Amino acid sequence: MHLEGSCHCAAVTFSLDSAHPYPYQRCYCSICRKTQGGGGYAINLGGDATTLKVQGRKNISIYHAKMREKGEQRSHASSAERHFCHLCGSALWLFSPEWPELIHPFASAIDTPLPVPPEHTHLLLDSKAPWVEVQAGPKDQQFEKYPKESIADWHQRLGLEK
Ligand SMILES: [Zn+2]
Ligand SMILES: [Zn+2]
Repeated sequence: MHLEGSCHCAAVTFSLDSAHPYPYQRCYCSICRKTQGGGGYAINLGGDATTLKVQGRKNISIYHAKMREKGEQRSHASSAERHFCHLCGSALWLFSPEWPELIHPFASAIDTPLPVPPEHTHLLLDSKAPWVEVQAGPKDQQFEKYPKESIADWHQRLGLEK
């Protein structure tokens, strides 16, 4: 599926191809919540990094999240790159150097109508804010940490690869 995306002020527009465009994954970690998630979570899609085209790249800044494990004195920077428009603050996509072939656009940045997922995966619930209610359907999966099932695996299991 071809996806078109943009930030709110339209200084950045982008497009990419995605075999895994269902917005089924809700991440409740504090990074997603604070940088992205008004409802308490953010939604990542799976896209093909080699197809990414960007206009207005000069308006993009990259945030390396500060990570602090329990018992650690100092924080370290996550290797993951969170790309966002530095004019309007819209989060655009996440890129991890460990998986250079993948781009994870945030569903909120995508303008192409996305397919409605038949079920959801709720993850990193151990970082959920107390005020956030998990709105889980009967088939939904819930995880304190990360699920073993990747975004690609989920689409394969449900026969939804595009
Ligand atoms: Zn913008
Ligand atoms: Zn997260």
